[in-house]
Amino acid sequence: MKVEFFKHSIQEEDIQNVVNTLNSVFLTTGPLTCQFEKKFAEFTGLQHIVALNSCTAALHLALLALGIGPGDEVITSPMTFIATATAITHTGATPVFADVIQKNGLIDPNCIVSAIGPKTKAIIPVHLYGTMVDMKALRQIADQHNLFIIEDAAHCIEGERDSIRPGQLSDAACYSFYATKNLTCGEGGALGTNNNDLAKKIRLLRQHGMSKEAADRYNGTYQHWDMVELGWKYNFNDILSALLINQIDRLHHQLEQRNHLYEQYIAALVGLNITIPEIIGKSAYHLFTVWVPAHRRDLVLKELGNYGIGATVNYRAIHTLKWFKQQFGYLPDAFPNAFEIGSCTISLPFYIKLKTEELLYVVNCLKKILNRSQ
Ligand SMILES: *Cc1c(COP(=O)(O)O)cnc(C)c1O
Repeated sequence: MKVEFFKHSIQEEDIQNVVNTLNSVFLTTGPLTCQFEKKFAEFTGLQHIVALNSCTAALHLALLALGIGPGDEVITSPMTFIATATAITHTGATPVFADVIQKNGLIDPNCIVSAIGPKTKAIIPVHLYGTMVDMKALRQIADQHNLFIIEDAAHCIEGERDSIRPGQLSDAACYSFYATKNLTCGEGGALGTNNNDLAKKIRLLRQHGMSKEAADRYNGTYQHWDMVELGWKYNFNDILSALLINQIDRLHHQLEQRNHLYEQYIAALVGLNITIPEIIGKSAYHLFTVWVPAHRRDLVLKELGNYGIGATVNYRAIHTLKWFKQQFGYLPDAFPNAFEIGSCTISLPFYIKLKTEELLYVVNCLKKILNRSQ
């Protein structure tokens, strides 16, 4: 049997929508991008969504728009994809890591407080695997120390904790539509915010700081545009908006389906020598991750591969990666919980097209591998 790590669930109606767009006038940031932004804003409950070409771009622009740059420090988690930290570095600011909670891999509010110094300007929490960080606690810390909060919500479009959703207690939430994300068009992202001025600024910065976007320029007779800021080329487009727009209607149902798969996995995995990360509140069920004994992790990955099962690592603690080590001189045990999780973690196939027999095959193979001597 071959079990892919991920299969998207793009449907015929999405493909047809793309074809219709290809047969229309507008391919770049136009009316469909605008429609997508409105519809996604409704889904997230936020006032503004600005569509961008990646979540990395959203993180980068959010930091820039909030005035963060050289000399500043931004606190984030070492248990994340590298983009969370490199977006900080690209502004000229310094990423400062705070360790995570052992049971769930989420950034630890106590470690954030210890990491705050005179240069600290913002916190970027990461809603790992779909479970939200304690945003109420973070809001309190941010208020006490006058800090911005930008959420890395790449794993968490649908999640909720203490009746709070991404973007609600922060300055901005950053979403990803990368190939393996819950809502996907291959590559894409968005920034969500309730702050009018911030949304306006991000719109400007996503398109070279030009006073008019393509759709405005197209409207009737030619009008001059001006360049009012130094911006980037981070805009989204109508072809990919066409691919995303109807997927939004299916998000709730797909979340229920993944929740069901999660329960199936948990029931089937009983008795194995593994740890399941704790879920708090309503998870977005983005990744299904198990923590195996560290000394066997790489072997388990290899043997899953031999059984035809796609598995991956989200993530090795990023302070242990070559560039971060060279740049900041971190030792592995600088953030012991993140290091430990990063050494134990394996993400298993988890998507609505995963069949029950495939799920049971994955679990049986994992059982065989873990029960072998050693
Ligand atoms: C996928 C991901 C990103 C980057 O998203 P892109 O859209 O590829 O830029 C950032 N942070 C986390 C936690 C992610 O999983």
